Amino acid sequence: MAELLKGKAVADAMKEELSKKVSDLKAKGFTPRLGIIRVGARPDDLFYEGGAKKTCDSIGMSYEVFESPQDIAQEEFEKVVLEVGANKEINGILMFAPLPKHLNERKIRSLIPVEKDVDCMSLGSAGKVFADDPTGFPPCTPTACMDIIKFYNIPLKGKRAVVLGRSLVVGKPLAMLLMREHATITICHSRTENLESVCAEADILIAAIGKAKMVNAGYVKPGQIVLDVGINEDPDNPGKYCGDVDFASVEPIVEKITPVPGGVGSVTTSVLCKQTIMACELQNGLA
Ligand code: NDP
Repeated sequence: MAELLKGKAVADAMKEELSKKVSDLKAKGFTPRLGIIRVGARPDDLFYEGGAKKTCDSIGMSYEVFESPQDIAQEEFEKVVLEVGANKEINGILMFAPLPKHLNERKIRSLIPVEKDVDCMSLGSAGKVFADDPTGFPPCTPTACMDIIKFYNIPLKGKRAVVLGRSLVVGKPLAMLLMREHATITICHSRTENLESVCAEADILIAAIGKAKMVNAGYVKPGQIVLDVGINEDPDNPGKYCGDVDFASVEPIVEKITPVPGGVGSVTTSVLCKQTIMACELQNGLA
């Protein structure tokens, strides 16, 4: 039976540390504050927002939600983003994406100041992540994967890591973060040939493809560590969700695996707070 890499233990340890940091910052007169920019009220966004608020509350951090109507015009929304960006009380910004189709998302992303871009929405932040510049915040999900790997003392140096998925929000930045820790990286995607055998060569396999239970016994080998980033509707259990990994067939083979739910997704809001606190420290010359 594989060891379960549970996200809650990682998030709990992180929150304990963050609470102390927030207390110290408050003693110096600073309260880290997250600005949440949301257009409309998509259930997924509201769910994540609820989790982010709860995490902020649990560590004593503050937040403010900037909600715009679904049909907001480009110019008006640009004003909102610029105002939140210029707001001296806000240290970090979470903006839900994708934005409604009528908005020019690329342009709006570029309006988020890099020093407040705690979920890596702008190309400026992505550039810093790719250049290993520690003042650029990677997206929260790949950072959560790295925090899980560190918490469970999984060695990366010289190891073969296969990242399944090449999106800008998970796959690509995750590959950069793994490489920073001296792993040897292979990035796979929908056109990769011999996908199963490439995945099976990994010491660490991370699935971020958005395909329910696609990664089955044919993709893995004994001794592997598997992280499952996927959040998909479970085709076998309506109303429930599942990962990109077919847990039932993979878990008996591999050494360690993150569950879904209860794995990577349980760590992301703590990362969001961690990066907002870091942003607060950097903005005030405390880091
Ligand atoms: P995207 O749809 O943006 O990217 C999916 C990637 O997977 C693409 O690179 C795509 O390849 C690749 N892919 C799709 N199908 C296959 C296939 N059959 N074989 C090989 N590669 C394939 O998804 P995201 O990166 O945004 O999200 C990935 C998953 O992670 C989703 O389940 C999402 O819900 C989840 N997620 C979870 C988060 C969390 O906090 N736990 C946060 C963000 C996302 P190509 O580029 O060739 O099209």
